[in-house]
Amino acid sequence: MPRTSIRTRLLVALLAVAVVAAVGLSAYFLRELESFALRKLEERLHTQARITAALVAETILADGRSLDDRDAAAIQRALDASAPYAASRMRVLDARGTVLADSGGEPGTSYADRREVRAALAGEYGAATRITERGRVALYVAVPIKAGDEIAGVSYASSTTFSIMSLLSDYRTRLAMVVAAFIAATFALAELLARWLSRPLTGLAETAARFASGDHSARAVPSGSAETEALARAFNAMADEVERAIAELREEERRKSRFVSDVSHELRTPLTAIRGAAETLLDGDVSEDDERQFLATIVREADRLTRLANDLLTLQRIEGATGELPLGRVRLRDAAERAAEALQPLTEARGVQVDVTGDDPVVLGDADRLQQVVANLLDNATRVTPEGGRVEVRISEGADGVTLEVLDEGPGIPEDALPHVFERFFRAQTSRDRSTGGAGLGLAIVAAIVRAHAGVVTAANRPEGGSVFAVRLPSLAPRREEPEG
Ligand code: ADP
Repeated sequence: MPRTSIRTRLLVALLAVAVVAAVGLSAYFLRELESFALRKLEERLHTQARITAALVAETILADGRSLDDRDAAAIQRALDASAPYAASRMRVLDARGTVLADSGGEPGTSYADRREVRAALAGEYGAATRITERGRVALYVAVPIKAGDEIAGVSYASSTTFSIMSLLSDYRTRLAMVVAAFIAATFALAELLARWLSRPLTGLAETAARFASGDHSARAVPSGSAETEALARAFNAMADEVERAIAELREEERRKSRFVSDVSHELRTPLTAIRGAAETLLDGDVSEDDERQFLATIVREADRLTRLANDLLTLQRIEGATGELPLGRVRLRDAAERAAEALQPLTEARGVQVDVTGDDPVVLGDADRLQQVVANLLDNATRVTPEGGRVEVRISEGADGVTLEVLDEGPGIPEDALPHVFERFFRAQTSRDRSTGGAGLGLAIVAAIVRAHAGVVTAANRPEGGSVFAVRLPSLAPRREEPEG
C-alpha cells in the first residue's frame, strides 16, 4: 500500500479540525441569533398587544361591559390610525374570539379555535408560531382585554418572521465566506507546516541514500524539530561508527596481507639456505669439513623454521583467544626465576649473569605465559649484553600496580626503532646475523601476552647505557587472610 505523505496527513488533519470548528461554531451562532431575534419579536408583539389591550380597556370599556359590534368602528379607526407605524398586524377580538377590528382588513373572522386566542380568552398570555395563508412563518401573540374581572375581548398581534429569516440568510452567506477563507488559510498553513516538518526528513533520507551508495563522508545537517534533529544526530553517530568500523576492517585487511607477505618472506630465507646446502651436497665433490658445515646449516635453518612455526602458533593462540587465558594467582618472582633457570644453559654459554631482584608480588594471570614474557625479554637482553656482563630482572610493587623490568648492558635501541620494537617481524639491526636472533616475533608475543593481562609493556634506553623493558601489570587487591580449614 503506498504511504501517504506528511503533507497529505497534515492537510487532512488540519482541514478536519478547521471544518468541524468553523461549521460547528457557525451553526451554533446562527441558531443563537435566530432564537434571540424570535424572542425579541415575541417581546415586541407582546408589548404592542398589551398597549392595545390597555387602550381599549381604558377608553372604550370604561363602563365595565364586554366588547361588541358597537365598538368595532371606533377600534377599527384607532387601529387604522396606528397601522402606518406598526410593523405588525393588530386585531381586536370580542369575548367570543371573533374579529371586531383588524389593522390588516377583513373583520368578522373567528379565531376562537386558535390555541393562543383560547389562552387569552381564559385570561392568560398566549403565543404561537404558524404558517400564514401566504406560506410565510408568522408569530402570534394574544393577551386578554379586561374590564374589571371580566374578559371583555382579546388584543391579538402578529408578524411574519420574514425579516429575521432574511437577516439570518444574509449572515449565513457571510459566514460561508468566512469559513471558505478559513479553509484556504488552513491549506496554506498545512502546506507550510508540512514543508517545515518534511524537509529535514527528506534531507536525511538523501544523506542516508548517499551513505548507502558508498559516500561514507555523508553527514546529515541537524535541523527542524527536536525529533528530526535528534534523528539527524543519531544518524551521524551511526555513520561515524560505521565509518570507523570500515576503516578498522580495511586496516585489519592490510595488516593481514602484510602479515602473510612477512611470513612468506621469513620462510623463504631459511628455505633458500636449506635448498642451497642440499643442492651442493647432492652435487657431491665436497670435502668432509664442508659437508659437515652444509649439514649444520640445514639443521640450523630447519630449527629456525620450527621456531618460526612455534612463535606464530603462540601468537595466534594468544591473540585468537581473547579473554580466555586461564587466570590464577601468580607469584611474579617465581615466574621470573623459573624463566632465568630455563635459560641458564643459554645465558651461561653467552657468559652473561642474570639476577632476579626486588619484591615478590602476586598478580592475576597465567603463570606459563608470564614466564614466557620474562624468557623472551631475557633472551633478547642476554643476547645483546657483552660477555661478562649482567642482566637484571627487577620486580617492584607500587600504588599503581606491579612492574617487572629487564635491564641489559647492550647497545640500546635506536630512537627511531623504539616505537616499532613490539611489531611483528620487526628487527632493529637488520645487518645483524639472522641466525642469532629470531624472526622478530619475540617482543610481539610479549606485547600480546601483556595485553591479555590488561597490562602495558614499554621499551626505553637507560641513561647509563643499555636498554630497559618494563612490563606493568595491575596489582591484585590483597586478599584477606582466610581461616584455614
Ligand atoms: P627477535 O626474535 O628478532 O629477537 P624481537 O621481537 O624479540 O625479535 O625483537 C625485535 C627487535 O628489537 C630485535 O631484532 C632487536 O633489534 C630489538 N631488540 C629487542 N630487544 C633488545 C634489547 N634488549 N636491546 C637492543 N635491541 C633489542
